[in-house]
Amino acid sequence: MPKPPQKSSSTARVGRTVPHVMPVVAMALVVVLLGAFLWLLQRNERDEEALALIKDALWVEQNLHFQLASDEDKLERLAETLGRTEGDLRQFVAMARLVVNTNPAIERVLWLDAQGRTLLAEPPLPGTGGPEGAGHRADDSQSGGPDRNDAVRIARSSGLRAYGAPYRIDATDRGFDAAFPLFRDGVFAGTLVGVFSFEAMLTHHVPWWFAQRYQLEVIDATGTVLGAKSRMSVPGSMAGPAPDPARSHVIPFDPPGHGLALVATAYPSDSNVTRTVLVAAIFALTGSALWSLWSLRRHIAGRLRAEEALREEHAFRKAMEDSLTVGMRARDLEGRITYVNPAFCRMVGLEPEDLIGRGPPAPYWLPEEIDRAEAAFQDVLAGRAPESGLEMRFQRANGERFDALIYEAPLIDANGRQTGWMGSVLDITERKRAEELAHQQQERLQQTSRLITMGEMASTLAHELNQPLSAIASYCTGCLNRLRSDHCDTQEVAAALEKLAAQAKRAGLVVRRIHDFVRKRNPKVAPCSLAGVLEDCVGLAGSDAARLGVRVELDAPPDLPPVTGDRILLQQVVLNLMRNGIEAMARTPRPDRRLIVTVRQTGTDGDRVLLTEIRDHGCGISPEVADRLFSPFFTTKREGMGMGLNICRSIVEHHRGRLWFETVAEGEVPEAAGARFLFTLPVQAQTPDRPPNQMPDHTAEAAE
Ligand code: ADP
Repeated sequence: MPKPPQKSSSTARVGRTVPHVMPVVAMALVVVLLGAFLWLLQRNERDEEALALIKDALWVEQNLHFQLASDEDKLERLAETLGRTEGDLRQFVAMARLVVNTNPAIERVLWLDAQGRTLLAEPPLPGTGGPEGAGHRADDSQSGGPDRNDAVRIARSSGLRAYGAPYRIDATDRGFDAAFPLFRDGVFAGTLVGVFSFEAMLTHHVPWWFAQRYQLEVIDATGTVLGAKSRMSVPGSMAGPAPDPARSHVIPFDPPGHGLALVATAYPSDSNVTRTVLVAAIFALTGSALWSLWSLRRHIAGRLRAEEALREEHAFRKAMEDSLTVGMRARDLEGRITYVNPAFCRMVGLEPEDLIGRGPPAPYWLPEEIDRAEAAFQDVLAGRAPESGLEMRFQRANGERFDALIYEAPLIDANGRQTGWMGSVLDITERKRAEELAHQQQERLQQTSRLITMGEMASTLAHELNQPLSAIASYCTGCLNRLRSDHCDTQEVAAALEKLAAQAKRAGLVVRRIHDFVRKRNPKVAPCSLAGVLEDCVGLAGSDAARLGVRVELDAPPDLPPVTGDRILLQQVVLNLMRNGIEAMARTPRPDRRLIVTVRQTGTDGDRVLLTEIRDHGCGISPEVADRLFSPFFTTKREGMGMGLNICRSIVEHHRGRLWFETVAEGEVPEAAGARFLFTLPVQAQTPDRPPNQMPDHTAEAAE
C-alpha cells in the first residue's frame, strides 16, 4: 500500500489538534478580557473615589469655613457691642458665656485692653480663681499663656480681624486665636480674642458620615497634626482598616492660614474587599475551568488512543478472520445465528444476510437429515456438544453436499456471561475422500500381498513337496517291486514303508507350515524357541537360497532360553529379513553369496535379550535408501511391495523388542560388505511374564 504523503498526515494532525486547542485559547482570551475588564473597573472606581474624595474634602473645608465665619460673626458682633458700650463687665461676661456655650468651636473669649493685657476671659483662665469678674481678669500672657501680640497687632493696625498662629491650648488640644479690634469713638480701645479649638471644630462641624469614609486632620506647615477626626472618634463605629495614605487630599486651611492645611485620607472601602474576593473567586473558577479543560483534553486524547488501538485491533482481527479457512458461526442462546465469517459463507454458498438472525432449520441442513441436525442442535444448546467434534453433512446453496466437522464452544462476553455458542466448521470432504481412497488402496494392497505370498507359498510348496513326494514315489515303487517278486522280504518292505511314512509326514509338515503361514488367524502368544523358528525359516527359505546359489549358515547355540511370542509372526520377520538378504546378493560373486544367521544371548540378568543377526554380503544400504527403509511402500525392487520391513518392525516392537540395521561400506572391509539386520527379543522370565503388546489388527492381518 503506498504511504500517504507526509503533508496530508500533518494536515490531519493539525485538523485533529485545532478542536483541542480552541477551548484553551478561548478560555485564555476570557481570562485576559476578564483581567482587562476588572482592571478598567478598578481604575474607574479609583478615579471615582479620588473625585469623591476631592469633592468631600472641598465640601468639608467649605463647611468648616462656613462655621468659622458664623462663629466669627458672633464674636464680631460681641466686639462691636463692647466698642459701643462703656465697660460693663457683667454684661460682657454674660454675652461671652452665651457665645462660648452656643458655639462649641470657640473655646474661650478674651477681652484685651489697648495694651494687650487681658481684661476678661470667659471661661476664666485656669489658675485664676476669685469673685465673679475678678477671675475673668487674669492675664494669661503674663501667666505663661500664648503670645497673641502678632494677631492683636495686626488687628489693631488693620482694623480687621486677624488670626494668630496655632498653639497648644492644653495638654491635648490645640487651637488658634481670632482677634477683633475694638474701636470706641474711632479710637482703638482693645481687642476681642476668640480662642478656637481644632479638636472641637472637627468634632462638631465634621459630620459622622464623613468621618466614616475619611480621616480628617488639621496639620501645620511642618506636618504636625493639630487636630483629627476619624472613625475611632465616632461613637459606636467599629475599628476597621487603617486609612490608605495613597488616597488623600490636602486643602489649605485659610483662614486661619499660617500654613495650616486640611488632610482628608480615605479608608479602604468594603467594596474593595468584596471585589478582591470576587476577583479571586473568578480567577479560581477560571483556573478550575482550565484544569477541567486540560483533564478533559487528556481524557479525550486517551479515548482517541484507545479508539485507534481498537480500530487497529479490529482491522487485525478482520484480516485474520478473512484469512481463516475454518468457518466460524456464532449463535445466541436461542440458537439464532448472530455471526458468520467469510469462510463459513463460502462453505455454504450463502451471504451473511441470508444467515444472520436465522434459527433452525438452517438453510444448509440436508432435507433428509433434518431430524438428526435438529437433535444435534438441541444437544449444542443444552451444552452436550461432543468435545471431539460432530460430523455432519451439509448442503451448499447450489445443492452440492459436503462433510463438515463442527466443534462448539460457549461464547462468553466481557462480563463472563455466556451469550451463546461459537462453532468452528471444517470442510472435511477432501480428507474423508483421501481416507477412503487410502483405505481402499490398503485393502487392495493387502489383497495383492496375500496373493503374492500365496504365489510364493505355492512355489515353495511345490519345491518343498517335490523331494518328499519323489522319495515317497521311489519308496512306493521299491515296495511294489518287492511285493511283486517271489521272494518278498517283509522286513525290507516294512523298513521302506517306514521311510515312506516319514517322508509323508515331512510332506504333511511342509503343507501344515505353509498352511499355517497363509491362514488368516489371530496371533497366538506362547513361549517358543527362537532357534526352532530360525531353523524353520532356514528350511523355508532354502529353495530361494538354492535357486540363487546362496549358502545359508545358521549359528544358534543349543541352550538358548525361550522367548514369548507368536511363532508364525516371528517366522514371518526372520523369513522376510532372510529373503531381503538373499535378494540383495543377486550381484555378489557366487562364492561370496553367504547369508549368516546368528543368535546370541546378551544383556544383564534383569534385562536379558536374544540378539538375532541376519548378515548378508549384498549391495548394502545407501544413505538415501537408509532414510526411507522402514517407510511403508518404499521399495527398490521391481516387484517389491515395500511393506516387509515396516511390518517386521511392528511385529518386533509388539514383542517388546527392537529392530535395526547396520551397513558396512564396501571400501572399508571388502570381504565384509553388505548389510546386517538385527533384532532383539526379551528372554522369557521364569515367572509368567507380561505377554507382548497386543498386535493391532491391521499389523496382524498385514503380517498374515
Ligand atoms: P520389499 O522387499 O518388498 O522391497 P521391504 O520393506 O522388505 O520391501 O524392503 C524395502 C527396501 O529395503 C527394499 O526394496 C530394499 O531396497 C531395501 N533392503 C531391505 N533389505 C535389504 C538388504 N539386506 N540389503 C540391501 N537393501 C535392503
